[in-house]
Amino acid sequence: MTRSIQRRPLVAANWKMNLLPREGAALARELLPRIREETGFVDVVLCPPYPGLAAVADVLEDGAVGLGAQNSHWEESGAYTGEVSPRMLLTLACQWVILGHSERRQLFGETDEGVNQRTRAALAAGLNPILCIGETLDQRDAGQVESTVLGQLDRGLDGLTAEEVLAVAVAYEPVWAIGTGRTATPEEAESVHALIRDRLREGFGEAADAVRILYGGSVKPENAGELFGQTDIDGGLIGGASLRAEDFAAIVRAATREAEQP
Ligand code: PEP
Repeated sequence: MTRSIQRRPLVAANWKMNLLPREGAALARELLPRIREETGFVDVVLCPPYPGLAAVADVLEDGAVGLGAQNSHWEESGAYTGEVSPRMLLTLACQWVILGHSERRQLFGETDEGVNQRTRAALAAGLNPILCIGETLDQRDAGQVESTVLGQLDRGLDGLTAEEVLAVAVAYEPVWAIGTGRTATPEEAESVHALIRDRLREGFGEAADAVRILYGGSVKPENAGELFGQTDIDGGLIGGASLRAEDFAAIVRAATREAEQP
């Protein structure tokens, strides 16, 4: 099947713990004119750290580029020091939230069960989750790519309806490729994306064909086109390269070129 009708590409910037609010706003201002035309073909989302959300939202005022946060909790309020609820993010004009990023899993002990709770709560509040899954190098070397990635997918989406899954973007991010400069080859990535798509079909039927599956892990202007050209790669979650307006704009343009293919 072609992606053109059902799956508009999505390119999301994960700024991680970088940029003060005024620096984030400046980067967004630098970026906007470079990708204005592309937003007619590709969904673009910027995910600054929490303190930068309001300043970046002001720059993105016209809504052509979306805004996302890098995590959210499952409760609406309460004694959860350091956490932020989906409703709080909605008041800051967020439409998206990254959940289950490998840095959250590895450095802050987040589990599949917790990621599932966060996903369900984000959906219930009206946010679009970007659910991150991916294997470590040890798991790849041990032949556990499929069991790891599909296990994270199953547990992350547990209890969702087909309608709800349409609001989710899945990001396949092999941990060994994040911030390392080492990218999965387009074929390596596509083979995992195809497994993810098949698993989504088993669980959610036809809705699976409309779910965006993003690739993340050292995407750069030089490799974005080939990655996005794969059948089941519907865009990217971009870390390091999203901190440079020129590079991120080039990656968005690569997604646009793929979107324009008949
Ligand atoms: C990420 O952290 O989501 C990511 C993909 O980072 P990078 O592009 O820097 O590998």
